[in-house]
Amino acid sequence: MAEPVKPASETPAVKEASVVNPSNPKVSEQIPGEQTKGSQVAGAPSAVVLPVSNPAPSVTQAAAASINTIPFEPVISKYFGVQDSYTLKFYESHEGYSTARKYVGTNPAEMVNTVKESGLRGRGGAGFPTGLKWSFLAKNTGKPIYLAVNADESEPGTFKDRYILEDDPHQLLEGVILASYAIECHHAFIYLRGEFILGFERMNAALNEIKAAGYVGSNIFGTGYDLKITLCRGAGAYICGEETGMLSSIEGGRGYPKVKPPFPAVSGLFGCPTIVNNVETICNVAHIFKNGTKWFRQWGTEKSPGFKLFCLSGDVNNPGLVEVPMATPLSDVIEVYGKGMKNGKKIKAVIPGGSSAPLIKGDKVHEITMDYECMAANKTMLGSGAITILDEDKDIVSAIYNLMRFYHHESCGQCTPCREGTGWLEKLMHRFHHGHGKKKDIQLIWDVTRNMQGKTICVLADAAVMPMQSYLSMFPEEFEAKCDG
Ligand code: SF4
Repeated sequence: MAEPVKPASETPAVKEASVVNPSNPKVSEQIPGEQTKGSQVAGAPSAVVLPVSNPAPSVTQAAAASINTIPFEPVISKYFGVQDSYTLKFYESHEGYSTARKYVGTNPAEMVNTVKESGLRGRGGAGFPTGLKWSFLAKNTGKPIYLAVNADESEPGTFKDRYILEDDPHQLLEGVILASYAIECHHAFIYLRGEFILGFERMNAALNEIKAAGYVGSNIFGTGYDLKITLCRGAGAYICGEETGMLSSIEGGRGYPKVKPPFPAVSGLFGCPTIVNNVETICNVAHIFKNGTKWFRQWGTEKSPGFKLFCLSGDVNNPGLVEVPMATPLSDVIEVYGKGMKNGKKIKAVIPGGSSAPLIKGDKVHEITMDYECMAANKTMLGSGAITILDEDKDIVSAIYNLMRFYHHESCGQCTPCREGTGWLEKLMHRFHHGHGKKKDIQLIWDVTRNMQGKTICVLADAAVMPMQSYLSMFPEEFEAKCDG
């Protein structure tokens, strides 16, 4: 647990931030649940990439204080917004594919160990250790092994992977080659959110470039290793971002999640052993092979090493995409990178990791560092890295109503508690939102959520329950104020 901290205003100045692109007003206006499937957050890239910060003194948590004194330059987002960054020519002029050349043909088991030793955790939401997941892969089954890269980014508030697809697709493709070789896979799939038009075009063009160059296909780099990469496009369902829903969709079926176990590493795509990894995770893999585990572990904490892309939106002056070391204080993300609160208002609450993450109250913000341990200690989660700031004037009931509409709309309907429960929650929140809540409805909300939690095939039901319970328990007075009986 974090010790008492100094307010962010006492942090020393950081070096001048480099703003690659002006921030996108659509991001700043976003409120929970607004970014539903079909309502893509952005048109033009709007990454705000801020290099070299020494923000540690605003937090006294021992680990974070020592770690964040180490200078950091953006890694994953280094070339976002740079002209022609998505072309093979640009990528190769910056050492692109040199790591794949070096590693393809080496010992795959050693590569898996390297990822294990790095401590890299999945950047898609669950934060599961990547190397450990790779080591669970069923081997010698006589079946092919698949890699499925989840680029169906659709958690409200999340827009980090889109930048990778649009601005640096070769970074992802090199990671796919390395990861595929390490897990002994010969066919990798990249499943892109259907609304990512530019992302798909750039990925497709990049894939065609490396096909022509011979970096994918047969006998890659003359090593005898064969790899096929297939791009798949979603058709607008949020649930296809759930790993087994995505696999169902790639198989050509409706994007229904499947009961686990068996987990995909044992029986995934077409019933074969499959590793599912997020886009940002795969990009990290390439940098770990290039620079080593010691380099990667110099940032973050023992259990949350490295760095992460965070999507900052809501009521800050400078919303956008930032890449910072793990364990960076949340107050620095807001004050230094987000340039403080809009109109000098106070923070009512922060959604730290996507719409399903429980809230952090404004008066707690200075105790929080952006790592898995601190989030868990505060009963919330790092999730997809989407940080949404709500100022003191934001209507909590309106925000949660928006989220409940979203989850009800996106429930696939297979499980009764989710299909019916999300509908009940939306109806109840509709009533409160319009000032017609009943005091007895508050108990009903608790009953409905308890009957949903942990009782369904996938975590969408829990993803609806967690914010509902969190908003209600942290701001009960706002719900009571919307009652007329
Ligand atoms: Fe579908 Fe909801 Fe069940 Fe997930 S929890 S499988 S979204 S009904």
